[in-house]
Amino acid sequence: MLDVVIVGAGFGGLYALHRVRGLGLRAKVLEASDGVGGTWHWNRYPGARCDVESLEYSYSFSNELEQEWHWTERYAAQPEILAYANHVADRFDLRRDIIFETRVSAAHFDDERICWTLTSEGDEVYEARFCVMALGCLSLPTTPDFRGLSEFEGAWYHTGWWPHGEVDLSNLDVGVIGTGSSGVQAIPVIAEQAGTLTVFQRTANFSVPLRNGPMDESLEAAWKANNSVLREQAKKTSSGILNMDSDLVAAELETDAQLDQIESRWLQGGLSMWNTFADMLTDETSNQLVADYVREQIRATVTDPRVAEALCPSSHPIGSKRLCADTRYYETYNRNSVVLVDVRHEPIERITTKGIRTSSHEYPLDVIVFATGFDAMTGPLTNLDIRGLGGISLGDHWEAGPRTYLGLTVAGFPNLFSIAGAGSPSVLCNMILAIEQHVDWIADCLAYMREHAHTTINASASAEQQWVTHSNEVADATLYTKAASWYMGANIPGKARVFMPYVGGAATYRRTCDEVAEQGYRGFVLS
Ligand code: FAD
Ligand code: NAP
Repeated sequence: MLDVVIVGAGFGGLYALHRVRGLGLRAKVLEASDGVGGTWHWNRYPGARCDVESLEYSYSFSNELEQEWHWTERYAAQPEILAYANHVADRFDLRRDIIFETRVSAAHFDDERICWTLTSEGDEVYEARFCVMALGCLSLPTTPDFRGLSEFEGAWYHTGWWPHGEVDLSNLDVGVIGTGSSGVQAIPVIAEQAGTLTVFQRTANFSVPLRNGPMDESLEAAWKANNSVLREQAKKTSSGILNMDSDLVAAELETDAQLDQIESRWLQGGLSMWNTFADMLTDETSNQLVADYVREQIRATVTDPRVAEALCPSSHPIGSKRLCADTRYYETYNRNSVVLVDVRHEPIERITTKGIRTSSHEYPLDVIVFATGFDAMTGPLTNLDIRGLGGISLGDHWEAGPRTYLGLTVAGFPNLFSIAGAGSPSVLCNMILAIEQHVDWIADCLAYMREHAHTTINASASAEQQWVTHSNEVADATLYTKAASWYMGANIPGKARVFMPYVGGAATYRRTCDEVAEQGYRGFVLS
């Protein structure tokens, strides 16, 4: 029997393996794909890149790793991030404990033997005292159930399952469905390659310029000289990202000062606009100022006023759906070869053998790209048959939305940990820092249990309830709950509508987790 079984070899699973090995525990990682890197292994669509700066979107746990790695761009593209994940796997000799091409289908807790039994789709069985689910929040792509897809004679791809070989789109008629972060990144690059591009947009989303460019060598040198201090500073922010937090309250500023602040964030680029004002996601007037500015930029960029208007988001506060960051996204609609179809006015009726038919047109296509997102946060877990004490099913426990204690554990599922999932800051911040914080907390917990001769840890039902109540209260005080977003489970028909990530801020959350541990794992039953 293993001490620890970890599922998933993305950044979460890789670091978890490294940490638990450091405790002298016997561990294996089970990974569905044939490589490491998770998100960056699967999402190979044209234009895929991070929108947290490369120097920050990287591990902080090893100074040597930070010093030796060189990022070529301010925001790294997918191949470079994947190369980094592979470098980490080799540098820390992780591969020998990763079992690839093993998709876990069930995980059951054995009350008597106090162990988890994991079964793969290929019927292999693994047993371990502890189980760490590092499945990722955005690892289960969803393809809408359009009538006729199986009859389509062209090729179709999902951005989250992009083929590993080259996909040559040159001179082809391509359709992209979806204008979230993946679509917004892919559309400008596909437009350059394809003969024609038709974009099927359901909800116009806010996108801001990424302002990517080659890595500034002096910036990189300064980072490397001061990385430990900068990493500590980042840990004290609400997003885990430097230069993001703002303490300016819009209503306390004169109009000129408001505009200066908005413009400076626009020029800074990337996700910084998400926090233009401290109250931007709690106060509608503050939010409106930023939203109006971005809409003005869209109108100033897109030459056809009707297309510009269709691209202007109007259904949700800015930032309440994940803010997109792009490279020449709006400019793309000025190309003669690019057409925008607003599927709210012209709904997709079906996919035909030759393309996509809406209520008023048939669009002939050689290729359809689904940039339609993921069953986020809970999907990768509820997709498995996970059973805790007395055989209770996680799917049942979460029927009305995810219930966790600290986003790390679930009452009734002893010795099971989840990395950076629902109930934790997770997707609202720099996920690599969020992952490191979770893995460190779990590793410290395992060390504590060994030291105190405990064999099980189980969140109490009351601690879980308090965390759920607190998380909902914090979310309800924001504008996040005003959008039909994947954060709310709204993109999946029938999924419970609950704001899933913890919005109280990464630094506050980190302090809470530390306090829980310092107080002998308050809220947990250890035995
Ligand atoms: P993942 O990387 O998703 O890894 C999970 C692994 O688990 C995968 O390898 C998967 O194959 C495996 N797995 C899942 N289910 C099973 C199963 N049943 N059995 C076996 N194996 C399984 N975050 C940021 O902070 N900044 C960014 O700029 C950013 N950009 C992103 C861009 C894209 C296109 C996407 C989709 C996400 C982005 N994210 C970003 C979020 C990103 O998911 C995280 O930053 C991070 O990579 C997640 O790492 P992880 O290890 O938690 O999960
Ligand atoms: P997403 O944000 O969920 O976007 C999916 C898009 O598909 C939305 O525009 C959605 O429209 C549309 N859609 C879904 N079903 C549809 C249907 N039946 N008909 C028409 N349109 C439909 O997914 P994503 O773009 O893959 O991004 C997911 C998350 O991954 C991001 O929010 C982000 O956290 C991460 N990510 C980050 C980056 C980055 O820049 N670093 C890049 C990619 C992804 P509606 O809005 O109307 O639902």
